[in-house]
Amino acid sequence: MDYNKLAELLFPQIDKTPEDYEAMFPQRQNAAGGAVITRLGPSPTGFIHLGNLYGAFVDERLAHQSKAADGTPGTFYLRIEDTDDKRYVEGAVDTIINSLKFFGITFDEGAGCGQPDADGEPPYYQSKRGPIYQAFVKRLVSQGKAYPCFLTEEELADIRAQQEAAKETTGIYGKYAEKNRSLTYEEVEANIAAGKPYVIRLKSKGNQGPDGVVYIHVNDEIRGDVSMPANDQDVIILKASGIPTYHFAHVIDDHLMRTTHVVRGEEWLMSLPIHIELFEALGLEPPIYCHTAVLMKLDDETGNKRKLSKRKDPELSLDYYRQEGYHPQAVKEYLLTILNSNFEEWRMANPDADIDEFEFTTEKMNSAGALFDLNKLNDISKDVLLKIPADELADFLLEWAREFKPKAAPLLEDKEYLTKILNIGRDDAKPRKDLIYAKQIFDFISYFYDEYFVIEERIPEQVCDEDAKEILKRYLDTYDHSDDQSQWFEKIRTITADLGYAVKPKDYKKHPDEYKGSVAHVSTVIRIAVMGRSQSPDVWTIQQILGEDKVRARISELIG
Ligand code: GLU
Repeated sequence: MDYNKLAELLFPQIDKTPEDYEAMFPQRQNAAGGAVITRLGPSPTGFIHLGNLYGAFVDERLAHQSKAADGTPGTFYLRIEDTDDKRYVEGAVDTIINSLKFFGITFDEGAGCGQPDADGEPPYYQSKRGPIYQAFVKRLVSQGKAYPCFLTEEELADIRAQQEAAKETTGIYGKYAEKNRSLTYEEVEANIAAGKPYVIRLKSKGNQGPDGVVYIHVNDEIRGDVSMPANDQDVIILKASGIPTYHFAHVIDDHLMRTTHVVRGEEWLMSLPIHIELFEALGLEPPIYCHTAVLMKLDDETGNKRKLSKRKDPELSLDYYRQEGYHPQAVKEYLLTILNSNFEEWRMANPDADIDEFEFTTEKMNSAGALFDLNKLNDISKDVLLKIPADELADFLLEWAREFKPKAAPLLEDKEYLTKILNIGRDDAKPRKDLIYAKQIFDFISYFYDEYFVIEERIPEQVCDEDAKEILKRYLDTYDHSDDQSQWFEKIRTITADLGYAVKPKDYKKHPDEYKGSVAHVSTVIRIAVMGRSQSPDVWTIQQILGEDKVRARISELIG
């Protein structure tokens, strides 16, 4: 068979060669100097999830932390893997870019982030790279390393059924590939003339060596030496539509875009032997692979580890964090704790350092499933928010409210008031840690705003309704907004004693028959009247922020 002639028959329109593309997209200067080039290759399905962010963090850190010998940093680019057009969702690319930007991840180049398709730049949408892939497929055909396959759906189903019945590996390999591998030029020509659809398959070298199965060895940066049986399948590299499969697109794109490190999910590990064979067939050097661990969580019901699921776990979607109002720094900090086992230790030693100073390494990544835990994220978030100045937090909250709680947004525009609220208890020796994420923060501080103020709790059972009214009446009568904290508390003590409650809670505990209750119960009545709830930061401080008018109005309202 004259393979060159076959290649011309199949790809008459392809006039560029792999060498042309090598020249068009030469080695990058920074990569030549040792910098790391990474990419994110999402499909534009409209759903951007935690796994994307998790991978993007690794990509971003690896590239931006690295430097070429001349000091130029590495490159992190965005490639849209849209070869499966059934999954394309309008606006999905913007969603990807904006969602990642929110978390502080920006691309140096790629779809929508630079000048896509500008002169001399590779197209970053796989759907625009058809002729490039085809030039490389044409080369493989011309070398007898790939061939057209005309197996129909029915034939494929028959082969599959036969293999399943015989408990053999499914797919097109060995004797199942024979028929199409050995078509003559004339047969191919006749099939094409008859309009029969076909795909292009790799002619696998198989994996049988003189001593049995041949293995591939890959040094994965996260997993170390990975050894697997070599590929023996004649995998499809170009579909009937002329569009490449993931396998082929990955090999060509990561080569021509000069990716040095391919960071991708563990689900791709299985196909590694295919990729290695493809690189070899094309005479190209594979990149360094980093297969990240799947994100797991402990199932609430069973207590077992399982993969995060789109259906069951809202926290898988990145939108969740924006809607709830998690601060991007908190999410970033948390992801680093699951990504690098030494991050927490580093953070303890460097509590105030910028997160980007942490030296991220693939060696410290766990190859077993990474455990995602919202409670842990919340704990970290409390610490992170404590370090963000209250006025910045106020801006963050307002921005969140404008998008997700628009009715409350105008209230939050009084920045001075909001900043004071957010500052409560922050400078104490043991600072309060009640702020976690915007939605929770808003609920937590909502009583500061009359529009959201509601009495949420009942007064303690130790206090009868009549006493409650009397407590509030006396409180209002003696209230002086300029009292300092101790003067203020002294007045509560007086009311407590006058009405037959114990000024010291422990006295009430010891002699419950001698008192109606204690100062704690009396204070709770006041707390509920002013804040609507029995748990809150210090009442005196809150009243100072609320202002005299609000305090008096809320109490008068209850006295009737
Ligand atoms: N398009 C693939 C995905 O959505 C990318 C895999 C890779 O990074 O190579 O998972």
